[in-house]
Amino acid sequence: MSATPLTPAPARAAGAAPTTEAAEQAGPHPAWGHGFEALLRQDPELAGLLLGETERQATGLQLIAAENFTSPAVLATLGSPLTNKYAEGYPGARHHGGCELVDLVERIATDRAKTLFGAEHANVQPHSGTAAVLAAYAALLRPGDTVLAMGLRHGGHLTHGSPANFSGRWFDFVGYGVREDTGLIDYEQVRALAREHRPQAIVCGSISYPRHPDYAAFREIADEVGAYLIVDAAHPIGLVAGGAAPNPVPYADVVCATTHKVLRGPRGGIVLCGARLAEQVDRAVFPFTQGGAQMHTVAAKAVAFGEAATPAFTAYAHRVVANARALGAALAAQGLVLATGGTDTHLLVADVAPLALDAATARRRLAAAAIVLDVCGLAHGTARGLRLGTAALTTQGMGEAEMRHVGMLLGAALRGEGREGQVRAEVADLAGRFPPYRSHM
Ligand SMILES: *Cc1c(COP(=O)(O)O)cnc(C)c1O
Repeated sequence: MSATPLTPAPARAAGAAPTTEAAEQAGPHPAWGHGFEALLRQDPELAGLLLGETERQATGLQLIAAENFTSPAVLATLGSPLTNKYAEGYPGARHHGGCELVDLVERIATDRAKTLFGAEHANVQPHSGTAAVLAAYAALLRPGDTVLAMGLRHGGHLTHGSPANFSGRWFDFVGYGVREDTGLIDYEQVRALAREHRPQAIVCGSISYPRHPDYAAFREIADEVGAYLIVDAAHPIGLVAGGAAPNPVPYADVVCATTHKVLRGPRGGIVLCGARLAEQVDRAVFPFTQGGAQMHTVAAKAVAFGEAATPAFTAYAHRVVANARALGAALAAQGLVLATGGTDTHLLVADVAPLALDAATARRRLAAAAIVLDVCGLAHGTARGLRLGTAALTTQGMGEAEMRHVGMLLGAALRGEGREGQVRAEVADLAGRFPPYRSHM
């Protein structure tokens, strides 16, 4: 891959069209190669927006826990002619001609996913994490069934019973939560609710839980009440791939996950299960909830699974966690209070109330310094907090020393104190020293 660093942000308004001469002088883009030049010649307006967004990603600190930088190989595959191919169905059983080569592509993606996660079956077609959860429900449940999942305030995802989502409309969700004293999942409550409501399925998974769930405890509770165990591992699946988090596959009936968070692949989903449920899951994806597979994305998933099977990715996954721990300690030193007191994963949830700030104001101040993260609910009380993750910064090559620096910059941006310009400049300098797309393999 190219080792050309990203050029520094040119002095023009974000979204303004770059000139053809400037792009030609810059040469092939470190991530896009020559593909970008074709877009620029044909549609400068869109090219300007894409270039502006690429610069935004590279010149700030991307701390959104669900985001990452894919490799140039994954980006190239996403931009390949495989997007032209219609491929409804599965390898060897397609509804269209000309699928011989994309069949091989999907078989490789499936085989790599099975090997990576030790699963008997993998479906690599879900268009997103939400589509993967929808397929898991469609495979195992009927409308009106009762499902026990983490309550939304405590970290459940929209697909875990939000009234605004199909899940809350079609199923009867009961919510479990985390303990007020420890912030950890209250397994006694999970067991009590399971006994009381006799759900058809129990969902283990969260958008903000910074610790490893006890999959064995969930399995035992599910078995006791005769429920399926669905693990929505959208966040930790990348750590699982790198051996930096426990694998839910041996415990769950179905594991659904995203491919674009810590796992660092293209935007999409996967479903993993035992051979026993393979046909049910496949039919739930196509034709029940989706049409034609997106073969460019399936191919990019295969590339990402290949990357995730390397020692370099294992080292990366462990660095993500070490960085999250270092960043957590740095935030605590700035006076923020961490949910569960820290993290075992890539993810941190921080209460900014001790700084006499609300989360929305905090996010605004950080955005002004180009420090980008999410606001999320805190389990107890009415205040909201900040959710941060270290996957993207780690991909850029930052380590624990940089995390201590990021913690200081975050604290300074939150306090304001008239140092906004200086903090923004330091953020740009730090990000500029760790350009993305250079350190994947
Ligand atoms: C991110 C996430 C999803 C959904 O992924 P999308 O690709 O945004 O649809 C589902 N469940 C959990 C727990 C998540 O964190």
